Amino acid sequence: MPSPTSPVQEIWFLTGSQRLYGEETLRQVAGQSRQIAAALADSSGIPARVVWKPVLTDADAIRRVCREANAEDRCTGLIAWMHTFSPAKMWIAGLDALRKPLLHLHTQANKALPWDTIDMDFMNLNQAAHGDREFGYVQARLGVPRKTVAGHVSDPVTRARVAVWARAAAARSELATLRLARFGDNMRDVAVTEGDKVEAQLHFGASVNTYGVNDLVEVVDSADESEVTSLVEEYADLYRLAPELRPGGGRHDSLRYAARIEAGLRTFLTASGFRAFTTNFEDLGGLRQLPGLAVQRLMAQGYGFGGEGDWKTAVLLRALKVAAAGLPGGTSFMEDYTYDMTPGEELILGAHMLEVCPSLTTARPSCEIHPLGIGGREDPVRLVFDAAPGPAVVVGLADLGDRFRLVANDVDVVAAPHPLPALPVARAVWRPRPDLRTSTESWLTAGGPHHTVLSTALTSEHLDDLAEMIRLELLLIEKTTTTRQFRRELRWNQAYHRLARGL
Ligand code: MN
Repeated sequence: MPSPTSPVQEIWFLTGSQRLYGEETLRQVAGQSRQIAAALADSSGIPARVVWKPVLTDADAIRRVCREANAEDRCTGLIAWMHTFSPAKMWIAGLDALRKPLLHLHTQANKALPWDTIDMDFMNLNQAAHGDREFGYVQARLGVPRKTVAGHVSDPVTRARVAVWARAAAARSELATLRLARFGDNMRDVAVTEGDKVEAQLHFGASVNTYGVNDLVEVVDSADESEVTSLVEEYADLYRLAPELRPGGGRHDSLRYAARIEAGLRTFLTASGFRAFTTNFEDLGGLRQLPGLAVQRLMAQGYGFGGEGDWKTAVLLRALKVAAAGLPGGTSFMEDYTYDMTPGEELILGAHMLEVCPSLTTARPSCEIHPLGIGGREDPVRLVFDAAPGPAVVVGLADLGDRFRLVANDVDVVAAPHPLPALPVARAVWRPRPDLRTSTESWLTAGGPHHTVLSTALTSEHLDDLAEMIRLELLLIEKTTTTRQFRRELRWNQAYHRLARGL
C-alpha cells in the first residue's frame, strides 16, 4: 500500500513547436524544455517520475506519443507546453486519441524579460504567450478534459498546482484497476448507499463484487496464532491499551479476536488483490465482533472502506488515499453524526459506529472495548481518538440514476470545545464553510450522502482535478457559497450533464 501492484509511475512532458524555426532554434527549444521538465521533477511534490519527450513538430509524432501514453500503464498523465508556436491542427489527431489526463502548462523559459537586449530572435524563441493560446483554442474546440496551469516553474504556486494534478492523476490511475470486496450487501432499506456497479466500472474502472461474510469468517477462524500474537504486541506498542485488554486482563481474549479479524481480513484482501472493502453490521455471519479495530488499521494502511455495504465511499476513500500518499494529515471514512447548533458557534461532530481512520490523529489512540447497541454480537474493540485540527475537505459520492455526483465542503477540523469522556468512538469535530446553515442547506439540496471521506491531507483542488479527469460532476460548498447561487449551479449542472452525456 498505497499502490502495491503498480510499477513506478510517470508523467510525460510534451513540448510543442514546428519546423519553421530551423534546427538551431529547435535545439534551444529542446534544451530549455528539458530544464522546465527537470525543474518540475526536482521540485518534489509530484509523486511520479517526470519524463521529458523529444520536441514535437508534426502531427504524426504527436499522434504516436498520445497513443503510446494510452498504452503505457506507468504513464498516469501528460503535461503539454507550447514553447514556440505549434500550429494546432497538428494536435487534433493526438488529442482526439488521448485517454490519459492532460495538464496544459502555460509557462516560459525566462522569468524576467531582458529589456535591454531583447531582439527578434529572443521574441521568436519565447512565444508561448501566443503558442499556448493556439493550443488552448484547439483543446477547447475538441472539448478535451484538462487542467490549465499558468506561471513560471520557479514559482512554488505553479509547481504546487502541477503536483496537485499529478496526485489526482495517480488516483485516477488507481481507480482504473481497483478491485473492491463487499462482505454482504447494503444495509437494508437504505437508499443512498445503493448504486449502479456496472456504470461505476465503466465510469471509474473500479470493479465491485460481493462475498458471503462466512467466506471471510473461514479465513478469520484459520488465522495463524503467531500472527495474532504479533499483532497484539504491535497494538501494545502503538496504542494505550485499556487495562482489561492487556495480557492477563479480563477481556484480553476480545483483543486477540479483534487481531484475528485483522489477520483474516488482510489475508483475504491481499490474496486476490483487493484494495478496498465494505462490511455490514446487519450481516456478520459467524463473526463474533463487528470489525472495528481491524477496519481502522487497514484504512490506516491505505485500504478503502465503507460501512453498511457502502462501496461508493470505499472506492472514493481508496482513490483519495492514493492521492494523499506521503502528505501530512489523514484521510478517513466519515459520517456526519450530530450538531452543536449554538448560535454563532455551530459545529459538526463526525464519527461512525467504530470505523474512523487513525491517520486523522497525531496523538496516540486509545484501544478500548465497549458495548455496541446494534449488531447483536460481542462487544467490539476499537481505537478512540480525536482528529487533529486543521483545514480539511469532506466529500461524498452519490448515484443520481443517470450519473454520479460528488458533493464536497471545505471545512476546518477544530479541537472539540469540551472533552467527550462518555463517547467511546473516534471522532472529528469541524466547522463547515461558509457556515453550518449554508453548508447543510446546500448539501441537502444537492442530495449529498451521509457517508463521506474526510481528508486533512487533500484540498478541494485535488477533487476538482480528479472530477475533471473522469468527467464527474463536482459541487463544492466553499467560503463564497450562497444557497441561491448553489441552487442555480445545481439547475445548470442538471442541464449540462444530461446534454454532455449525449444519447
Ligand atoms: Mn453509516
